[in-house]
Amino acid sequence: PYARGLLDALPERAFTPVPGTPPELGDLPPGCAFAARCALADATCRTTRPPLTEGVACHRA
Ligand code: SF4
Repeated sequence: PYARGLLDALPERAFTPVPGTPPELGDLPPGCAFAARCALADATCRTTRPPLTEGVACHRA
């Protein structure tokens, strides 16, 4: 969902900006780094970091 939001921010797609600001790379949150800016984030997203796997690793995938 976050990647979809980034793509929707492209000027040729009527520029729908992703709300908020990017996470501080030196101070990442405990869960998904994009949870604060993702419209589909839930409690799991805020507490559990999605595993790095081949392909899609999002909790919603
Ligand atoms: S893991 Fe959760 S917060 Fe992160 S991109 Fe997926 S739905 Fe959004």
